[in-house]
Amino acid sequence: MQSYIAPLRLRLDGDALVSNWRWLSAMSGGAACGAAIKANGYGLGSVEVMRRLMQAGCRDFFVSNWGEAAAVEPLLEDGVSLSVLHGVRAEDMTQALASRARPVLSTPVQIARWRAAGGGDCDVMVDTGMNRLGLDWRGDVAATVEGLEIVTLMSHLASADEDTPLNATQLERFAALREQMSLRRYSLANSAGICLGSGYHFDLTRPGLALYGGIPSPVAAPHLCAVVQPQVQVLQRRRLLEGDSIGYNATFTAQRDHEVAVLNLGYADGYLRGFSGRGAVIVDGESLPVLGRVSMDLLAVDVSTKPDLAEGDWLDIAYDLGMASAASGLSQYELLTGLGARYDRHWD
Ligand SMILES: *Cc1c(COP(=O)(O)O)cnc(C)c1O
Repeated sequence: MQSYIAPLRLRLDGDALVSNWRWLSAMSGGAACGAAIKANGYGLGSVEVMRRLMQAGCRDFFVSNWGEAAAVEPLLEDGVSLSVLHGVRAEDMTQALASRARPVLSTPVQIARWRAAGGGDCDVMVDTGMNRLGLDWRGDVAATVEGLEIVTLMSHLASADEDTPLNATQLERFAALREQMSLRRYSLANSAGICLGSGYHFDLTRPGLALYGGIPSPVAAPHLCAVVQPQVQVLQRRRLLEGDSIGYNATFTAQRDHEVAVLNLGYADGYLRGFSGRGAVIVDGESLPVLGRVSMDLLAVDVSTKPDLAEGDWLDIAYDLGMASAASGLSQYELLTGLGARYDRHWD
């Protein structure tokens, strides 16, 4: 039973989540379609996301570290796999060896550690040009991974959301590795990579952003549904007189009288200061602008056209990911993963 009702909440659309996964799965053609649920399912809640996608038929999940793995491991069913993208540190070994999740090994040190422990199934990450995680594609990857029980060899695209020659270059390097090694599965594409075409799909795709309604490519825009709607309660209604300023540093000064609602939401909830003077709430289809600076826990909006809005009412934050990203300067990833712990999360 829920005792405390927070003054801010996320309405989460489970059907939209599943519909997005189904579209990505269809786009992945013959490749299996997994799901990146790291960072608490991009802020939505990894347990709830995994439960729904598993029920829809998703069989491959990805988290970043073993703390995230522990949160969802109890849900794992037979035939469902969970990969830990950051591999294994010495500190992770006890948990990793006892876990049904497997590491994605990305350094010779991790490989030596896993091999020495007789760890069993694992994945391996190869770097093909992003220079973030993975074995160097120029090295002798086959020799480095000799004897490991590799389920999936993967690499990650640096710029799949852009039309750049780097995509084809990474594809070529990854395809060459597949020619040299005979492993069970190969995986390259994230959300945007899926939209680059079947050549990028290999055996398994790994979307994250697009599952949650983020638009990774214009190609995907008509097919993806919004999953997240933040809602916030009015804490106080007040009148701003011509010449009054509002908020920290008085960045907005009224040129006329305004009616203002002060809302239970701020930058501590991921509604960062880029929304100051640029964000909005939506009431009956009308967009009501943020006035002045976003505070840590509070925000003011102009409700002059809404005389009936009162203390305790709930408002929708304008959070179309494309538009909110353009308004705030935050990426769609930041808009999702910043959704903090103070929201109640309600799945429809
Ligand atoms: C986060 C991540 C993904 C998912 O990427 P999106 O751009 O969110 O689709 C896939 N693969 C790896 C290795 C990742 O780190």
